[in-house]
Amino acid sequence: WTEGTQDDAENSLTELAALAETAGSQVLEGLIQRRHRPDPATYVGRGKVEDLGAMVLSTGADTVICDGELSPSQLRNLEQRTKVKVVDRTALILDIFAQHAKSKEGKAQVELAQLEYLLPRLRGWGETLSRQTGGSGRGGGAGGGVGLRGPGETKLETDRRRIRNRISRLRREIKGMKTVRQTKRARRSRNAVPAVAIAGYTNAGKSSLLNRLTGAGVLVENALFATLDPTTRKATTSDGRLYTLSDTVGFVRHLPHQIVEAFRSTLEEVADSDLVVHVVDGTHPDPEEQVRAVREVLAEVGADRLPELLVVNKTDAADEETLLRLKRLWPDAVFVSAHNGRGVDGLREAIEERLPRPAVEVHAVLP
Ligand code: GDP
Repeated sequence: WTEGTQDDAENSLTELAALAETAGSQVLEGLIQRRHRPDPATYVGRGKVEDLGAMVLSTGADTVICDGELSPSQLRNLEQRTKVKVVDRTALILDIFAQHAKSKEGKAQVELAQLEYLLPRLRGWGETLSRQTGGSGRGGGAGGGVGLRGPGETKLETDRRRIRNRISRLRREIKGMKTVRQTKRARRSRNAVPAVAIAGYTNAGKSSLLNRLTGAGVLVENALFATLDPTTRKATTSDGRLYTLSDTVGFVRHLPHQIVEAFRSTLEEVADSDLVVHVVDGTHPDPEEQVRAVREVLAEVGADRLPELLVVNKTDAADEETLLRLKRLWPDAVFVSAHNGRGVDGLREAIEERLPRPAVEVHAVLP
């Protein structure tokens, strides 16, 4: 089901397939339905549910992934009808974030987002807390069912309470980690080192550009979401001024709000920068849509007031016609290829030009 045109739906589905592959799935087949709104009971319409069931049988699929956020009951109904696991876009993205988070803070943020997603979807029997809580707490996995808990408390209630406790603990921990980061940040602003944040859609080439600009060995992966934890590198301008360059978390269309919430503190760091270098993938079928999606998230964390330098990347692989169109659309953008290095010197100059100048002290020498 989709709100947009057929093209939008196909792009979104292609991206969903890429996301699923990033999560380690093998994608077998796709199905698109045009409707005014999702079916309240089963997300796709009744007829399509049957088609879906048939597709599951013929392909031997073990999971159905839907390109949207499903209500808990839609999820349950679809699972009952198709007899396989049903995952929505949000759960998929959360799963990928969980696999890729590396720092302690990143991991805590993802776990918080997962638990907040899980809480309203928790069902009665059979559903234990399992991996999300790391097995802490009492009697995990006992699976006794209703009646075996404290007086008047069902298993579901116990689970909910444990999740809520864990959520509060995670929130506290994350708050503590944020303070540490703020101290670091304060030090930076005392030193008055300008900060440049590299933002952009997932897979646009942010890490590759960071490597090109600083010569640092940041991990580059041909997978969505390679970058979850911000990486900061030092760089110097041609006249010797120091500045920092930070790679930010990957952005993606319809970023689940739990993720935006969980990563708010990390994303807010972008709002503290002096310049946003917004990287766009010139080979993407709909770069404008990518730019819109990224700007939306930037606005959500208050980073839309910062000066923005648009950078169209992957010019080595993009077609001429698209590049011409984008040049007309964004006359101030810088066109580069992180791959072969073309335009990177120009980009460095464009960044330098936009960095705040240190206040100049004039010492008058009087006769
Ligand atoms: P990020 O998610 O924005 O940090 O993107 P990465 O830097 O990890 O790059 C994502 C993928 O795009 C990788 O497979 C890179 O090799 C590829 N890539 C990055 N820059 C370029 C470029 O200029 N040209 C081409 N053809 N591929 C690129």
